[in-house]
Amino acid sequence: MRFQVHSIPQAIADEVRRTRVSPGYGHPAHLELARGTGPCRCCLRQFIPGQEQRLLFTYRPTAGQSLNAPGPVFIHAEHCEAWSGEGFPPGLRGLPLAIEARAAGSRVTALTTDHEHAPETRIAALFESGAEWLHLRHAEAGCFIAVVVA
Ligand SMILES: [Zn+2]
Repeated sequence: MRFQVHSIPQAIADEVRRTRVSPGYGHPAHLELARGTGPCRCCLRQFIPGQEQRLLFTYRPTAGQSLNAPGPVFIHAEHCEAWSGEGFPPGLRGLPLAIEARAAGSRVTALTTDHEHAPETRIAALFESGAEWLHLRHAEAGCFIAVVVA
């Protein structure tokens, strides 16, 4: 099936790089040398630990309605291009992913941390079972990565 993965919008990533504060919250964004692979929530590529600088800030996904919880996310400290295009971003392959199915009112209607099947298979199954959109999360850290829409 066809689907699109939406990263943090380019304008928001650029704003955080310019202002060094979390949009909508005003907390300072934290600059550090990457200690893990992330991924970057803008370009959806994994960080090179010990080599790339990253910014940590609080972000609230805007898809759906108001029950989307804010949480910590990382982006590259230097400019990178927000992911766009159809299909599953190659930079996310190999990461432990939890996929949340969301429906009206931003209710979580299903959650999978299955690693045996390809992400495309898991995404298709959740949409076929009635999800309106999906959230990708890091299965170990729990943090928001991206929104998936059909
Ligand atoms: Zn990036």
